[in-house]
Amino acid sequence: MWGIIATWRMAFDGVTVASQLLKEGVTVGDAIESAVRLVEDNPVYKSVGYGGLPNIQGAVQLDAAYMDGDTYQIGGVAGISDVKNPISVAKQLSKERFNSFLVGEGARDYAVLNGFDIQNMLTDRAKAEWEKRLKEVQKNQLNPYDGHDTVSMVGLDVSGSMATGTSSSGLFLKQPGRVGDSPLSGSGFYVDSEIGGAAATGLGEDLMKGCLSYEIVRLMKAGYTPQEACNQAVYDFDARLTKRNEKAGAFSLIAMDCNGAWGVATNVEFTFVVATENQRPTMYVAIPAEDNQTNIEPITEEWLEQQRKNPTVD
Ligand code: ASP
Repeated sequence: MWGIIATWRMAFDGVTVASQLLKEGVTVGDAIESAVRLVEDNPVYKSVGYGGLPNIQGAVQLDAAYMDGDTYQIGGVAGISDVKNPISVAKQLSKERFNSFLVGEGARDYAVLNGFDIQNMLTDRAKAEWEKRLKEVQKNQLNPYDGHDTVSMVGLDVSGSMATGTSSSGLFLKQPGRVGDSPLSGSGFYVDSEIGGAAATGLGEDLMKGCLSYEIVRLMKAGYTPQEACNQAVYDFDARLTKRNEKAGAFSLIAMDCNGAWGVATNVEFTFVVATENQRPTMYVAIPAEDNQTNIEPITEEWLEQQRKNPTVD
């Protein structure tokens, strides 16, 4: 059995490519890296890689991570700039015994030294949006942090290996040096090939409070299905966070177990993509439902048309 699940419909092309690779017997690590790179390279997506939205000072600082579910090896970069594919740097770092999570200048220097492609990641479009939003925020005292999304993936290959990868420009207009959950083990991602994996998107500051990716894997280990584990972890934490702080940020989690079964839970409308040996790449939309359940439907033409008229999700 092979399978892959990824956050947001921007992952569709990546998942399609990864599913082909997994079908051909390519390792899950390479399939995930290829899929995330496709999203990073596409300037249309404003929250990942090239074309990602900048921080308050106008600099694009990216977070990414990779985890190997066979060995527990983890690599991560945070606040990295000018590097074309942060996921590839994170994947290589996962092979280091020491110094496997690098930030800022150190992460960039490692990428340069190791021959990764260097490029200016700020597109004219992202710069124009930054200028516009900065003015709006100052004038209307808007919440500056609308505009974020991470591409996160969990996959399984035919040999039974699992891996996860994340990549994000974090929150639009974030403070320089701000790091989200995406490169943080347990919060943004976690995977164990003997159990399954989970990964996140949403407000990093709140995801970190619940270590939700680890929590979902822990629940799967205890015997919950991926869907039960997601529902339990996400809605329980959302309720506890809301009770103690009067609010919870938006967050959404995806999971896949070592048999290729998958699940999703979210406290907002959330799109995601799945492909498995038994299912061609499919886009879904999830919304929270009654009684700590998640309503999941395949995306229809009608839904896409609605989005085109009133775009809220990238
Ligand atoms: N989790 C990301 C962060 O907080 C943003 C997102 O996924 O929406 O940096």
